[in-house]
Amino acid sequence: MKQQEEVPFDYTVEQFADLQILRYRVPGFDTLSLPRKRLIYYLTQAALEGRDILFDQNGKYNLQIRRLLESIYIHYQGNRSTDEFRAIETYLKRVWFSNGIHHHYACDKFVPGFTAAYLSEVIHSLSSSCIPTEKDETVEEMCKKLFPVIFDPSVMPKRVNQTDGEDLVLTSAANYYEGVTQQEAEDFYAALKKPDDTQPVMYGMNSRLIKEDGQVKEQVWKIGGMYGTALERIVWWLQKAEEAAENDIQRKVIRLLIDFYRTGDLKTFDAYSIAWLKDTDSMVDFVNGFIESYGDPLGMKASWESIVNFKDMDATHRTELISSNAQWFEDHSPVAPQFKKERVKGVSAKVITAAILAGDLYPSTAIGINLPNSNWIRSVHGSKSVTIGNLTDAYNKAARGNGFREEFVYSSTEMTLLDKYADITDNLHTDLHECLGHGSGKLLSGVDPDALKAYGSTIEEARADLFGLYYLADDKLVELGLTPDNEAYKAEYYSYMMNGLMTQLVRIEPGCNIEEAHMRNRQLIAHWVLEQGHDEKVAELVKRDGKTYVRINDYTKLRGLFGRLLAEIQRIKSEGDYESARRLVENYAVKVDQELHTEVLARYRALHLAPYKGFVNPVYTPETDADGNITDVKISYTEGYAEQMLRYSREYSNL
Ligand code: ZN
Repeated sequence: MKQQEEVPFDYTVEQFADLQILRYRVPGFDTLSLPRKRLIYYLTQAALEGRDILFDQNGKYNLQIRRLLESIYIHYQGNRSTDEFRAIETYLKRVWFSNGIHHHYACDKFVPGFTAAYLSEVIHSLSSSCIPTEKDETVEEMCKKLFPVIFDPSVMPKRVNQTDGEDLVLTSAANYYEGVTQQEAEDFYAALKKPDDTQPVMYGMNSRLIKEDGQVKEQVWKIGGMYGTALERIVWWLQKAEEAAENDIQRKVIRLLIDFYRTGDLKTFDAYSIAWLKDTDSMVDFVNGFIESYGDPLGMKASWESIVNFKDMDATHRTELISSNAQWFEDHSPVAPQFKKERVKGVSAKVITAAILAGDLYPSTAIGINLPNSNWIRSVHGSKSVTIGNLTDAYNKAARGNGFREEFVYSSTEMTLLDKYADITDNLHTDLHECLGHGSGKLLSGVDPDALKAYGSTIEEARADLFGLYYLADDKLVELGLTPDNEAYKAEYYSYMMNGLMTQLVRIEPGCNIEEAHMRNRQLIAHWVLEQGHDEKVAELVKRDGKTYVRINDYTKLRGLFGRLLAEIQRIKSEGDYESARRLVENYAVKVDQELHTEVLARYRALHLAPYKGFVNPVYTPETDADGNITDVKISYTEGYAEQMLRYSREYSNL
């Protein structure tokens, strides 16, 4: 493996409220060809032009509130170091993060840390030309309209209300319905559905439902319709991207998306989705549109989002290398021969690098994409599923130096191992798990694949994890160039044991057991090897100054134990041995040591880590020749959070 030179890079930007802002790198962008850089540039512009759409979708006063607060942030001449002014700044930063006045995850309206009287005073100190009143609206009228929205807890309390028994449409603050009850909305869409349609469009996905003159009707999001001015800008950039497309298939994808934005026609959207799904050869790919419907209590209206990305060639090469050696790994595993596959095929995971995040993927984002959402398209044509490598990497790197490892890792020996190898071995363990682990082994003939019932998924995850753990320490990985030396695996062994025995408990509420299959699997493996290695002190939990730590004394024997458990778990799976599965899971995976749990939670709480994270984007700057042709695109990573948000509001405000 070629050792990359680490350029110093600060992955953390700032922290406020319950949020931490990070920065991600776009490795490989500089070495892309000029046509691809140009294509990415156009698509990033198309992505940023949609920002205001999401603000408006999330609540009909969000844009005006954002503009009012931004104006205060820029122009206020009074004392900016008071607690109340700082509270306005924090509130604005949260509005930027959530694309509105409700928490991005919990959906509750923010409680301002400043009073209405103070806000009024600040507003009135500004010149009226700085105040974003609407047409024919006075400053007083604006305040009268917006203050209850900001300050009154009973006005628009939740962006999405899911409380059973309430009218979810009337009680949700999201801007997808106006003057329409839940019953009216449901009736409206029920009437559109044709019972024998095997290829139904996603009704209601791209519109707001309103009542006008007693009639329920849709305001469609399209050029010439609602959000038309933003969509025009998006299409303007998409047309440039269309000219710069890598190939005809991709050109067709972009053309269909443009058609959809022009017409709002949902059949066209399906055609676009299918074309997008089939475009697997292009290096550059993107999502730009009304995609996810979590923001609508009825699950129909789709929020606007965009991501532009390109293939991560290094990671894809890594997973291809692993899967092309799948048979060797199968043949040499510690599993009994009768449970092995004679012919095994590895899968290679598709890893992408994000170049820009926008709309509902910004600043808070997903680390994978699995689209399209249309059920019939998924069942007939499948879906595109990728993981976003550079974002996962940024989360990992940012977690360094946040005090977590310093608090929980036993000594500087383990710290050094983790610093040196953990990023490589963590990714590699995931690759081995996905590319080989799940696909290895076979059921004996006649065994019901669901024989392990409720214990099946924990056993399956344990099998895949153990396959990865066992092989991480194998010389074969060094030979293939996947690990730099035969020390590297120790980093993953240590962090796996620490996580499985202790630190994953930070995600469990006090007094609760472990329910989730991946968490159960990790505790199962860690506790089983701890117990089985007890007499030889392979690994142990030790106390120092009243704190518990994991210590590993013999990594070679630990590998042996992983191998033994892998053989046993594969036997259980192959034979469908329900009773053994039940015993393993119930004995090792479920119950939590209350005393240790309390200790771990207290130590974690003392670190004051922000539970939610999001990203600022890099900045792309085109260089042009005398005729205005793009000759290169430069990427930079220096823009701050407020700086980026204010620039986006300046340059991409089109509603
Ligand atoms: Zn898995």
